[in-house]
Amino acid sequence: MTDKAPAIEIVSFPVEGMTCASCVNRITRFVRAVDGVEDVNVNLATDSATVRFDRQRAGVPALAAAVEAAGYVARVDHIADDATTPSIEPSYQERHLADLRWRIVLATALTVPLLFGLARMTVAPFLPAVLADPWLQLALATPVQFIAGSVFYRSALNALRHRTTDMDTLVAVGTTAAYGYSLVAVLFPRFFAAAGIGVDGAPPLYFDTAATIVTLILVGRYLEAQARSRTSDAIRSLVALAPRTARVVRAGMEADIPLAEVVVADRVIVRPGEHIPVDGIVLEGRSAVDESMVTGESMPVDKAPGDEVIGGTMNSSGSFEFRASRVGAETVLARIVHLVQEAQASRAPIQRLADAVTGVFVPAVLAIAAITFVVWLVAGPTPSFNFALLNAIAVLIIACPCALGLATPTSVMVGTGKGAENGVLFRSAEALERLHEVDVVVFDKTGTLTEGRPRVTDVVPVAGVDADELLRLAASAERGSEHPVGEAIVRAARERGIEPAAPDAFEAIAGSGVRASVDGQQIRVGRSETAGADAEALKGPGERMAAAGNTPVVVSIDGAPVGLIGVADTIRIGSRSAVAELRRRGIEVVMLTGDEDVTARAIARSAGIDEILAGVRPAEKAAEIRRLRSDGRVVAMVGIAMGGGTDIAIESAAVTLMGGDPQGVVTAVALSKATMRNIRQNLFWAFAYNAALIPLAAGVLYPVTGWLLDPIVAAAAMALSSVTVVTNALRLRGFEPPAAAGEPGTAVLRTA
Ligand code: ADP
Ligand code: MG
Repeated sequence: MTDKAPAIEIVSFPVEGMTCASCVNRITRFVRAVDGVEDVNVNLATDSATVRFDRQRAGVPALAAAVEAAGYVARVDHIADDATTPSIEPSYQERHLADLRWRIVLATALTVPLLFGLARMTVAPFLPAVLADPWLQLALATPVQFIAGSVFYRSALNALRHRTTDMDTLVAVGTTAAYGYSLVAVLFPRFFAAAGIGVDGAPPLYFDTAATIVTLILVGRYLEAQARSRTSDAIRSLVALAPRTARVVRAGMEADIPLAEVVVADRVIVRPGEHIPVDGIVLEGRSAVDESMVTGESMPVDKAPGDEVIGGTMNSSGSFEFRASRVGAETVLARIVHLVQEAQASRAPIQRLADAVTGVFVPAVLAIAAITFVVWLVAGPTPSFNFALLNAIAVLIIACPCALGLATPTSVMVGTGKGAENGVLFRSAEALERLHEVDVVVFDKTGTLTEGRPRVTDVVPVAGVDADELLRLAASAERGSEHPVGEAIVRAARERGIEPAAPDAFEAIAGSGVRASVDGQQIRVGRSETAGADAEALKGPGERMAAAGNTPVVVSIDGAPVGLIGVADTIRIGSRSAVAELRRRGIEVVMLTGDEDVTARAIARSAGIDEILAGVRPAEKAAEIRRLRSDGRVVAMVGIAMGGGTDIAIESAAVTLMGGDPQGVVTAVALSKATMRNIRQNLFWAFAYNAALIPLAAGVLYPVTGWLLDPIVAAAAMALSSVTVVTNALRLRGFEPPAAAGEPGTAVLRTA
């Protein structure tokens, strides 16, 4: 027996032929049934499927076969080996639109004369009588029904073959009922006359109804498909940020080469006004770069030799040369695009509701239509057959759940894209959904509320050591430290021309300090308990530093405290207003820090926070979050990714803010709320609206108010509902990140 470990793989590929939520359900069921498949997400907004499966047990051909068996086309020739949207395939969209276009032209050309015929019989008797001729009507309606409308039959028959139903089943059954009845009435007029249907032996015809339904639904689909392609605009514009070529110096020669040919270590030239082609480090020259498109940071960022530049951002008026450090799929921009596509291909928890409803919806509607027919036939007024037929058709048409499948994914598409435009990257649709319920935002102080680049402000020696020696010893001990406090001490020493010595031994104590052996002495730097006993002489200056919001760092030699170094981290400009804005939205703000209480309190005060968790060790931070969460509150933790946002340690975070501005937290929460509101509206339009109209269509109100729903009106409403949903999702594109709250004490800059 071979017992292989599972090899989990994720693939995405385009799926052609989906029209509604039922298609999504069906494909999901078929693919999930394949042995070895762990998870499937079929996305109607992107016409694609993303599958997680065990490569030992299933393969791409088996997945494709399952999709085909469900009656759709799996384009595994366009496969993406990860959970991203497979390269959006314009050709499929184009073909789909072109196909709908000729159908609409044909259907409209034939339906308009049919409607004139209807007018001739009702409101405009002056029109030529030939328009109302039954044979002409038959001739006009037939191509609409079977040529323009063949899409509905194809999909309904496909579903039938698998003993299921989809929304096209409803359209096909509804229009076939109207057309079929009219056909019988034309061919055998006496058949219905004998049953007492019609006036003067001429039963009414519903060719116009059938044809109009087909036309309207085709038009609705066309508008929907067009709008749908716009939901991925944000991704397209992100991709378009990278220029097509780069000016590179190789062997002393400058040449414009295609972007794909740029390699790491290439020397790249950027001229004024150009987009930067790839990521890199500035070698020569100076400029300011507009990074807003990638980080959301609105102010241009100055670049000098040694600074990092990001591909896709725009150079201002200077020019410079840089060394390419990341190219191709490794660039920040490529990884952002990847991440957003991954989020767009994922399923939001709220969609489960829609999925559950669709599963039972179509069969339920067929049953309601049948009941409507029978009740009207038995108990309705004369001509009861006609009432029964039209009302049953109205029920079938009004209840199509086509918009249900689009409600969630279209909003998620637009919402995540909008996030990326504003430097807010959602890891998944679930992250986007979860954030809107957030009750508490916890800021891990260093680097979020503060700049995270502390400076040494005071050096206070005691016990006979002089200030420079104190700094030299501390800096030597901190040489290997990666903690911002340690780096600040080393920098301060170098700025004063003091070169730290190389320690013989070095140990970092997380959340506390360092221990090192320098020149044969045991040096400790850090919080008082790291550095040894509290010295009476250090109390006063220590308390003063703390009260000012600075961190007092104790230095000791062989266990004896010899001085204090004050380290200050400046509050970020946007902190106070971001905190105020979050609180204004009813969100509790907590500051979490390893700093001691007094220092923490001083910093919190200047950020406008009154709830703090101070002196928390790195290892305890997670436990503190769990504790906040324990009473059912949703807690978001804002921390800094080491190396800044551009070094994408973001794969692990639910939401990543590309810029350092804490206002990004407000933007993320606001966007999540806006997206969820949008999804709820969509679900309402897609579902409640159709479902609410079912009783009206069934004629429940007829005995009381005399109201009925004409099948043509039902078709118009139905076509509108999916267009409404997609258009509503597109409204999210107008989302504006909330402006920083202007409150007393905050400078608000205005330009005239
Ligand atoms: P923060 O919440 O500021 O990220 P940490 O948990 O990283 O805090 O550190 C907590 C405290 O421990 C710091 O405020 C500082 O007083 C001390 N500390 C940590 N590392 C060092 C170091 N390398 N040198 C000096 N002090 C340190
Ligand atoms: Mg820290």
